[in-house]
Amino acid sequence: MKKIDVITIDGPSASGKGSLAKKISSQFDLDILDSGALYRLYAYFTDLKLDNDEIKQKISEEIKFELKNMNIEIIYKSKNISNDIRTEDIAKLASKLSSKEEVRQTLFSTQRNFYSSKGLVADGRDMGTVVFKDARLKIFLTASTKVRAKRRYLELQNRGQEVNMPDLIADIEKRDFNDSSRHLSPLFPADDAHVVDSSNMSAEEVFLHVKKLIEKEYY
Ligand code: C5P
Repeated sequence: MKKIDVITIDGPSASGKGSLAKKISSQFDLDILDSGALYRLYAYFTDLKLDNDEIKQKISEEIKFELKNMNIEIIYKSKNISNDIRTEDIAKLASKLSSKEEVRQTLFSTQRNFYSSKGLVADGRDMGTVVFKDARLKIFLTASTKVRAKRRYLELQNRGQEVNMPDLIADIEKRDFNDSSRHLSPLFPADDAHVVDSSNMSAEEVFLHVKKLIEKEYY
């Protein structure tokens, strides 16, 4: 098998990008970048009234990403803040901030720095179109709004968060609209991306489908 450089996975909220990325990272021993977590961290620190320079410094020097039991945990000052950034309020603020040039520029180099000789699987909205546009294998993972809202509902419920389905559907639709219509790095599949609609597929079926694409590309 040839060496894998970067595999990108883009797509709308709750389309299953994160779990697919984790499975690929573990199967092919690749580093992993959850770029949405960086946008959420940016929102988290904005909420704490920090400015752009302070946020840049915090994210590049004080945040640690630890992969534990197939979960990416975000550690700040020895505290696990994963649950604090994975709320719908932080997601909404992240989506709002992500249309600003200053924010995207700050996070661009942070994201590029995740690449090492080990190889990387990167998930987000613009991994294949902007941040790693030379990647050899690009996946665009999507699913219907209803299916995605249901998945997010279960995920938030498992984290012990109060959720309500109609609000969740409205939030997802609003975020899809913001992410796809913004001027900078809007969400859309790269020309050379493989589009995978997972509405009627289990997470395992999606993984097996993408595994075949990886093997085809790299063997
Ligand atoms: O993927 P996640 O839901 O954690 O992302 C939160 C928000 O961060 C998205 O709604 C999107 O606005 C923004 N984002 C982005 N570009 C990325 C990843 C996330 O604009 N590459």
